[in-house]
Amino acid sequence: MRLSDKQCFHGDLNMINSANSRRSFIQTAVGGWVVSASLTSPDTRADQAPQAARTANPISGDILRTSGRLSEDGRYLLEQERPIPIAGTTDVLVCGAGPAGVAAALAAARAGASVQLIEVAGCLGGVWTAGLLTKILDAENKSGIMAEMLQEFSDRGSEVAHQTGGTVYDPEVAKLVLEEMCVDAGVRIRLHTRLVGAVTDERNCVVAVLTESRSGREAWQAGRFVDCTGDGDLAAHAGCRFDVGVGAECTCQPMSMLALLTGVDPQDIGPYIRESGSGAKTRLLNLMEDHGISPSYRAPTLRHLHSGIYSLMTNHEYGVSAFDADAVTEATLRARREIHEIVNGLRKIGGPWKNLSVVATAEQIGIREGRRIRGRYAITAEDLATGLRHKQAVCTASFPIDVHALSEHGNKEVDRDFRKNGSRPYDIPYPALVAADVDGLLMAGRCISGDFIAHSSYRVTGNSVAMGEAAGRAAAVSVQQNVMPHELDWSTVKSL
Ligand SMILES: Cc1cc2nc3c(=O)[nH]c(=O)nc-3n(C[C@H](O)[C@H](O)[C@H](O)COP(=O)(O)OP(=O)(O)OC[C@H]3O[C@@H](n4cnc5c(N)ncnc54)[C@H](O)[C@@H]3O)c2cc1C
Repeated sequence: MRLSDKQCFHGDLNMINSANSRRSFIQTAVGGWVVSASLTSPDTRADQAPQAARTANPISGDILRTSGRLSEDGRYLLEQERPIPIAGTTDVLVCGAGPAGVAAALAAARAGASVQLIEVAGCLGGVWTAGLLTKILDAENKSGIMAEMLQEFSDRGSEVAHQTGGTVYDPEVAKLVLEEMCVDAGVRIRLHTRLVGAVTDERNCVVAVLTESRSGREAWQAGRFVDCTGDGDLAAHAGCRFDVGVGAECTCQPMSMLALLTGVDPQDIGPYIRESGSGAKTRLLNLMEDHGISPSYRAPTLRHLHSGIYSLMTNHEYGVSAFDADAVTEATLRARREIHEIVNGLRKIGGPWKNLSVVATAEQIGIREGRRIRGRYAITAEDLATGLRHKQAVCTASFPIDVHALSEHGNKEVDRDFRKNGSRPYDIPYPALVAADVDGLLMAGRCISGDFIAHSSYRVTGNSVAMGEAAGRAAAVSVQQNVMPHELDWSTVKSL
């Protein structure tokens, strides 16, 4: 299956490279700034370099220089136009390689599509790995890629991973398993690369995305795109409408940093380990409070992963916007400091805790909520209350409504008010994965279309993987059948 010019993509390489065609073709959703550059080389001073439209050379370290001027009010830098090299053209491009993105890329590749997977972190897995999550929820009732991954995490993991059917997993094992699965399926992986723009054509179809990385600014063309960035970056750049949080203030669930610990014997601290029963969190909180430790998350969770390694979640960062880099930075510094303070405090208790120490804190603070992109169906609290059954169900979610405390006030574990209408197992409909405002774009994972309460349930990773599998497969089939994703019926696609 190859990209056809009859399909969504409306320009070929020559069109992109031709300034005239580009003017009629590209509408960038990132503010319309255009950029220009000259090329430097080791023996040429940057300001002497010719203006030729050469590409950067990653071997020699050559770069495309940016030039620009300040706006009159001095508030902006106006970049000048520069040619952006086309880094790749595939049938399907998946952005974000968390649980949803890996599943989307695998499903699309296995359905015969050429697939590019783009990820800003240095590993696949998202919150599973860069976020050091260690527990997969709502996965036991899933088949397909989720079941395959659990089997791998269990077979290649520790005794604990084996006993839990892979739902408590080692993040390092997960990194390797996901890479191997993607490589085996023929997925082209690009790490360390952030999506920074998306381009639509005159039919409002997504045709290319822009990224920044060590290789500079690059453009990637594809027939279909799948936004698995968690925060809905691709869709937002493409101009899609979205919702954030709840209420006029767009209040989001708190962020949390996770950590790996070592230095304790599981036999000695058994009652505090989450898998020992539901009372473990309260026992750990009481232990902390008895020794003057007051964690910002009131349901501290300690999991035993393998041999002497544990994972800890005991931090809440309230009122932080996922789109404010300064605020996320401050939250990250605060969270890391809190983890170390708590571990130091526990170590001072002595006894079985006397050698407790931090092995690693997550490189990426855990972001529970970003954009919820408007799709062709929006999953609502009402759907959860009534246990929605939908003829285009991609999976059934059974995880309950789970809204962590929205502010420090009261310092509660979860806000139970949001649960008042209850929830029953409900279907996630395929149209909730299809962008409403542009063509050629699907979403999977926590950025799909739904309301604040529904999101608090479907966001967990067992569902994210199932959504990713459906979105990837639909993206591939829609290229194959030369139809838009919204023209597909999931009940037909899944039986192909
Ligand atoms: C603290 C915390 C605890 C949680 N606990 C659990 C739990 O115990 N079990 C469970 O199942 N779920 C849990 N969840 C929920 C779950 O982790 C997320 O909802 C889930 O990871 C969603 O999967 P995803 O693939 O949509 O997003 P993510 O895992 O967030 O993956 C998104 C990926 O996209 C990448 N990305 C983002 N923007 C860009 C960009 N512009 N360019 C390139 N790449 C980009 C990110 O680096 C990341 O790898 C928890 C979440 C948090 C934050």
